[in-house]
Amino acid sequence: MKFLKVNKVSKTYLGNEKPAVSDLAFSMKKGEIVSFVGASGSGKSTLLKMIGGLISPENGTIHFQGKELDKPEDKLIPGQEGIKMVFQDLRLMPNRTVEENIKYPLLLFDKDYQNDRVEELLEICHLQEFRKRLPRELSGGQQQRLALAKTLAEEPELLLMDEPFSNLDPIVKSKLIVEVSEIIRNQQLSLIMVTHDTQDALMLSDKIGFMSDGKLLQFDSPLNIYNKP
Ligand code: ADP
Ligand code: ADP
Repeated sequence: MKFLKVNKVSKTYLGNEKPAVSDLAFSMKKGEIVSFVGASGSGKSTLLKMIGGLISPENGTIHFQGKELDKPEDKLIPGQEGIKMVFQDLRLMPNRTVEENIKYPLLLFDKDYQNDRVEELLEICHLQEFRKRLPRELSGGQQQRLALAKTLAEEPELLLMDEPFSNLDPIVKSKLIVEVSEIIRNQQLSLIMVTHDTQDALMLSDKIGFMSDGKLLQFDSPLNIYNKP
């Protein structure tokens, strides 16, 4: 059984002629980091939203751990059990501190667990010293790490990240890429990210998919991508 299997999904938005994603198929194993690279408008976010259970594919199917994804329209709160997304706009709560932001997804658990888990996530994401700050008092890279910590608090098995490294200066960015890949590997998570930057994808991915006009042109390991003519 594949961890994630995307089988020929398509999606055309209402009012558009061209599909945003067209007949796209791939699969991944647990523990892998997979990136989709493509220009703006190539369908990356649409693919990610379908995998996250936020929009329905019109054709094709997506299976996660052997089970077909629930239809977003059948759910009160859109999203998929076990699959969580770090959105491009980060969606941090502006008037809450770093630790309050991380604690928010944990509020249904008992206090001891909440506190332990917040400590753990502060440590994993290197945010201990900023715990009392507000999101706007953090640098871009720190805000990204906070969004990651907040999403990890939701206990995903598969993490989705939409352009996680855009708008960062080059040094912060390369450091964050290393940190994120360490977090994913150490926590034994699986990651799908989308980016317009091939270099970013090459730095941390087991597999890279190249997208253009809603189609997947190539899907392979960085090594094979380089060795193929
Ligand atoms: P990317 O993430 O690679 O920039 P998107 O998945 O956002 O690509 O967009 C793919 C195509 O679908 C684009 O042509 C875009 O204009 C279109 N599109 C995306 N979202 C919507 C929407 N909500 N309504 C209509 N068209 C959309
Ligand atoms: P306030 O200080 O007025 O509470 P916040 O910006 O901290 O303002 O958020 C207000 C409330 O809005 C939060 O307590 C929460 O219920 C909800 N909220 C805001 N952003 C999010 C988010 N990204 N995820 C979940 N809930 C959110």
